Amino acid sequence: MNSLREIKATCCYCGVGCGVIVQTDGQRVTNVRGDPDHPANHGRLCTKGSTLHLSADPVIRQQARALHPELRLQRGLPREQASWDVTMDFLARRCADVLRRHGPDSIGFYISGQLLTEDYYVFNKLAKGLLGTNNIDTNSRLCMSSAVAGYKQTLGADAPPACYEDVDHADLIFIAGSNTAYAHPVLYRRIEEARRRHPQLRVIVADPRRTDTAREADLFLPILPGTDVALFNGMLHICLWEDLLDTRFIAEHTEGFDALRQTLREYTPQHVARVCGIREEDLLQAARWFGGSKAALSLYCQGLNQSASGTAKNAALINLHLATGQIGKPGAGPFSLTGQPNAMGGREVGGMANLLSGHRDLANPAHREEVARLWGVDSVPATPGKTAVEMFEAVRAGEIKVLWIACTNPAQSMPDQNLVREALQKAELVIVQEAYRGTATVPYADVLLPATTWSEKEGTVTNSERRITRFRPVLEKPGQARHDWEIVVDFARRMEGLLGRARSLFPYENVEQIWNEHRETTRGRDLDITGLSYAVLERDGPQQWPYPEGAAGGRKRLYEDGVFPTPGGRARFVDTVYRPVAEPADARYPFRLTTGRLRDQWHGMSRTGTVAQLFAHTPEPAVLLAPADMERRFLADGDLVHVTTRRGSQILPARASEDIRAGQAFIAMHWGEEYLSGRSNSGEPSYGVNALTTSAYCPDSRQPELKHAAARILRAELP
Ligand code: SF4
Repeated sequence: MNSLREIKATCCYCGVGCGVIVQTDGQRVTNVRGDPDHPANHGRLCTKGSTLHLSADPVIRQQARALHPELRLQRGLPREQASWDVTMDFLARRCADVLRRHGPDSIGFYISGQLLTEDYYVFNKLAKGLLGTNNIDTNSRLCMSSAVAGYKQTLGADAPPACYEDVDHADLIFIAGSNTAYAHPVLYRRIEEARRRHPQLRVIVADPRRTDTAREADLFLPILPGTDVALFNGMLHICLWEDLLDTRFIAEHTEGFDALRQTLREYTPQHVARVCGIREEDLLQAARWFGGSKAALSLYCQGLNQSASGTAKNAALINLHLATGQIGKPGAGPFSLTGQPNAMGGREVGGMANLLSGHRDLANPAHREEVARLWGVDSVPATPGKTAVEMFEAVRAGEIKVLWIACTNPAQSMPDQNLVREALQKAELVIVQEAYRGTATVPYADVLLPATTWSEKEGTVTNSERRITRFRPVLEKPGQARHDWEIVVDFARRMEGLLGRARSLFPYENVEQIWNEHRETTRGRDLDITGLSYAVLERDGPQQWPYPEGAAGGRKRLYEDGVFPTPGGRARFVDTVYRPVAEPADARYPFRLTTGRLRDQWHGMSRTGTVAQLFAHTPEPAVLLAPADMERRFLADGDLVHVTTRRGSQILPARASEDIRAGQAFIAMHWGEEYLSGRSNSGEPSYGVNALTTSAYCPDSRQPELKHAAARILRAELP
């Protein structure tokens, strides 16, 4: 038996970004435990994190993983194994041909918040620097693009101002649109411990469902789906009326309050209570607690972001913080939680259709010039890239011919699966770069590129509080799998050869060289990490940005000096107006369908679905309905129902839940067709919950409204 070693690494699931100590005998991961020295978790792990070693079991690595490159030379034929050289040569020649015939915007990249920062960096440089297209977007578009837009509109930069330690200093925690107990469990445990230590700490939760997070709150606001802007405006109206504003902070550090003040007149407590479907006294209580607290911290996630009003929801909540001076001090601030482990890192390298490296904006000509100079290319194209939904629309329309998908599963996770699957069939060439061969997207691949994953990869990730941690390899690569950055660099060099480029833009021999180039692109920017070398991360452990050259450490909290990264140095109020959901319930589709996470599953279950223990909490998919709705339809627990929206239908067991209001329904996001097809013997499409969701999106952030669709629910008549 080989001797055991322990290596510090990072959990690959949610944006809390917990440190793990991985034990290995060199062949397999024998155990994991929380890293007591990691500031994000201080040794704690949740059920998902503490079973990471089971998902890296040798049998699973052998059976569930993509281990060889595969090629399909003609549609209709099966893919066949091929060498890396043959595969990459084929790929480069096909892409060069498409580029010549149709131009750079005929190629699109759809990547992932689960890639490491270094992977993200080279993908972005490949698309925008070498190929000359901004058609590169990510599944982070489905996760946090509304938070990005909300921060930029109000505070001037995409930078969460608070940190986890603020949980220990707050006297009010306002959780909006987040089931933190399930989606960010270790952070939630920190809240529970803070409440035990400080009984005066109050927690308010606003959510359409009485989640486990809501159940423990001092005040629960069971708002109707999509009414968050009305709630936040209503709370601000009350703070204004009851003299709870920080007028000095407004005068010295902000602009635009007078316009918002006019808008707020309409948001009377009576009106807001009616719109949100909550009691007026609860609304008043929430506003008084918020406005009267010494330090109020807001935690928010997909309930705000995954909405056709996502940016307005984020901005309205930040308005509330600015107007009450609840920002830039211990225990206070708006704090968006990222769903994925490295959605933040992707934002930092500009790995989205509208961003550029170092938190620069594609729409800004000076930013494009700076990035072109840093990369050593003539220019970065000005044409806006396609965002997630737009990209699949462009593929379906035949505008994008080649679609390269990396580390994500759009045939399950994107809204409106009719659109996605039509697009995947229509594309001339679908490339899937993936660690797992069983995802719903893999069957569409003409080229399958096997990639490494957790316990095999090296690089960095950034968690929700701007903290950068090393992601360290523990095991050898399985089969012929390659690191994501290696695949991109191999392709890029072949393309450079075909395009006749003399000097390579991709001279990297290791991942640290990519990191160092990325650091340089942040020099002088709000997220400056020029001082954060791998050596510093090795010596001092995980660090928060900014961390400029010469700094003694990272910055815990932003805007403590009251200066914001806007042209005038002032934060900006946004005149936010409540708008109803994109698809309101009506007589044909009378239910408000919402989606969300379970405690023990992660995204489309590629990894958690391999761990039997993680099914103990919730073993199968179901639609949750209010007991009154079950009774009215003569449904018993477990009866099968059709859940139908304007886009598709699913057959699921119905379950009564006291946590759901009458007229609402809830389906967890995790299960896809492989789990549901056994039930769908009516021949109806069976793509998981996203057969039902809408691709309507926020006009500012382009983030789809995954959280709400109008639905019809009828008993299923089985043959
Ligand atoms: Fe992993 Fe998130 Fe759980 Fe931490 S809270 S162990 S990062 S899933």
